[in-house]
Amino acid sequence: MKKIIVTGSNRGIGHSIAEYLAKKHYGIIMVDYDSSINETGSQMNDLYGNVEGIQCDVSSYEKCEKAFSNVDRSEVYGIVNNAGINRDVMFKNMTYEQWDAVIKTDLYSMFNVTKQFINSMIENNSGRIVNISSASWNGNIGQANYSAAKAGAIGFTRTLARELGKYGITSNAIVPGFIKTPMTDSMPDKIKEKFIEKIPLKRIGTPEDVANAVEFLMKGESGYINGILLDVGGGMIL
Ligand code: NDP
Repeated sequence: MKKIIVTGSNRGIGHSIAEYLAKKHYGIIMVDYDSSINETGSQMNDLYGNVEGIQCDVSSYEKCEKAFSNVDRSEVYGIVNNAGINRDVMFKNMTYEQWDAVIKTDLYSMFNVTKQFINSMIENNSGRIVNISSASWNGNIGQANYSAAKAGAIGFTRTLARELGKYGITSNAIVPGFIKTPMTDSMPDKIKEKFIEKIPLKRIGTPEDVANAVEFLMKGESGYINGILLDVGGGMIL
């Protein structure tokens, strides 16, 4: 059974990715900060089989070591580093805490989780790493912390693509545009309308739009796609 770790999968894009992949008969380890992930995992297991939930704060290396200690490393085929938060504020008003929380959750988490499984993926001589970046990687007003983390995710992705390709492991990033999730639901309507104006397809993306792209990269047939940024933004360019 090929198992895939999906971080931040209690809701939003991560939940959709986990469900989409479970429907395609991958085993799924759903990981989230919220302890209700155990219940979510069990409900998904009833629906699709081979799904479990693990509670973990992926911004902490020590917590990742502990939370994943019982996972059979040899079964893990893929990692989707999706967990992320934003704390948007102009840089002049940004606190150290707002900077630190976003960098730790959105960027350090990729190291913390990937590091737990990389040696076994190398031993298996196969694997897929998919990192969820953002169109904001290119710089966006009010997002110095988030943009820095999401740009960092791209450097991380491309470096792993170069280092790990020889072990049959691919590393790719997905760059979602504006996707309807709890993260974006809280934005003022005026800002949402401005985003939609910029999107040639004239609609907000769905979590399933992103999940479909992840599933494409997970496929065995996608094994020659390595080090790319796959834009899922309906043509929006920030
Ligand atoms: P949501 O806020 O809806 O969901 C994020 C999930 O990540 C939540 O379940 C949250 O758990 C979990 N999470 C947050 N911090 C941690 C942590 N330290 N450890 C474990 N889990 C954590 O976000 P989205 O679904 O919108 O975003 C998913 C990813 O996609 C993020 O990386 C985001 O940056 C990226 N993205 C989203 C876009 C969008 O338009 N929505 C656009 C571009 C990129 P809890 O509920 O417990 O806080």
